[in-house]
Amino acid sequence: MPTVYENYVDGEWVVSESGDTFDVQNPAEPSSIVGRFQSSSPADVDAAIDAAVAAQETWANTPGPERGDVLKRTGELLEERKESATEALVREEGKTRSEAAGEVQRAIDIFAYYAQKSLDLGGISKSPSGRNKDLYTKREPLGTVGLITPWNYPVAIPAWKLAPALAAGNTAVVKPASAAPGMTAILFECLDEAGLPDGVANMVTGSGSSVGTPLAEHDDVDGVSFTGSTAVGTSVAQTAADDLKRVQCEMGGKNPTVVMPSADIEEAVEILGVGAFGTTGQSCTAASRAIVHEEIYDEFVDAMVEYATDVEIGAGLDDPDMGPHVSKSELESTLEYVELGQQEGATLETGGERPSGAEYEEGYYVEPAVFSDVDNDMQIAQEEIFGPVLSVIEATDFEDALALANDVEYGLSASIVTQDLTEADEFVDRIEAGVAKVNEKTTGLELHVPFGGYKNSSTNTYREQGDAGLDFFTSTKTVYRN
Ligand code: NAD
Repeated sequence: MPTVYENYVDGEWVVSESGDTFDVQNPAEPSSIVGRFQSSSPADVDAAIDAAVAAQETWANTPGPERGDVLKRTGELLEERKESATEALVREEGKTRSEAAGEVQRAIDIFAYYAQKSLDLGGISKSPSGRNKDLYTKREPLGTVGLITPWNYPVAIPAWKLAPALAAGNTAVVKPASAAPGMTAILFECLDEAGLPDGVANMVTGSGSSVGTPLAEHDDVDGVSFTGSTAVGTSVAQTAADDLKRVQCEMGGKNPTVVMPSADIEEAVEILGVGAFGTTGQSCTAASRAIVHEEIYDEFVDAMVEYATDVEIGAGLDDPDMGPHVSKSELESTLEYVELGQQEGATLETGGERPSGAEYEEGYYVEPAVFSDVDNDMQIAQEEIFGPVLSVIEATDFEDALALANDVEYGLSASIVTQDLTEADEFVDRIEAGVAKVNEKTTGLELHVPFGGYKNSSTNTYREQGDAGLDFFTSTKTVYRN
């Protein structure tokens, strides 16, 4: 029997009033069910929001250091169960053991970081226009927030929304993605054990239409922080805009890495390989376009193909280089893009097929794919594939490479591999992306700096992580005291 997970509402684990559940499979072995979750209804969402609203004033008035203690303890409890949480993440989402351990560690670090921030929410003091007066700002919590998260970082992303929200005195309702809700449940077990007061954070599982939409629409929700696809994020932003609700959407990417002739080819290939095939290409910041100078194009393609064919694929618990896709539908989508790329006229240099061998028969595996002769107008170069598929595009010079890098609807993360500092500076100044990197992969970023996108990758109003992560969850009040 699979483990049955319940919703977490008002400090209690409760079943959905719908009476329905859904199962989550192990993507490396889909016949194995890793968890059974509540298929919640809008009534469950209402109950969670009611609990969060009722708890908000008391939580906001709880001194920052006390709120911080709960966050600190939550991180410690997650650390105590790091090994089992890592294995749960591998089984639920298909990450490799190393990737999963890194993600769980990130969630632990996020809680420690925002535990500190709850002591220091910020605010400024200014000189008033007379004696015996005070002029300063204070940051107040936004209120009750809805947090809607994707499956691809199912513990780190809920953590990087929840921790700043709670640090600043908000209460929250979290709606995790249905492909991997178990990791959010583990986080809530830690919050519960850490002594989080009832109602302060709530978790409701279920579909986007039955849980996500009612959460985004609810009048008592003061802000919605969403991470997921651009299509869904756009509808969430529109829903929130209808009643002037604060909204933050971090969405898809089609991230370029420009490779210039001065680059060390081996280094460039490693940067692209980890960026494109790490987490099975299922990162919003995955490198999906290598834009390579014509002088080194052929050499780069050959080396990239060699790298891709060496990628060891397997079940995450054995810690190979690359695990399976999270679900059958994600695998099918990648296979369809591989087919489409060939129809569009790109050359499939390697990969893009299901690996052969009995051990790969059941899981959602695909070989990492490298396309050459890709025109930037092709769909494979314009649309987010969310699988291990790299398009290699030829550029005539730096200006051409930069124009190609920017010629896409997305603007999340971008990098350049070069030894030329002027080129690097020019790239950083002119690339249309929220994260610009030099001689670094497009994926991954330290937690104490702002993260978010330009263009259709983000509503681009607020940033997540670091000090900036508190901005969405607070309102600034200016105080003038005579
Ligand atoms: P998704 O958009 O399908 O779902 C995201 C969340 O929204 C899920 O919890 C889902 O159930 C919910 N949802 C679905 N329909 C909804 C609706 N109508 N109203 C409200 N909520 C709804 O995304 P996904 O497949 O879970 O995740 C992959 C996507 O997330 C990719 O596009 C990836 O680039 C993006 N992503 C972005 C970032 C970032 O920080 N920019 C980080 C990780 C993932």
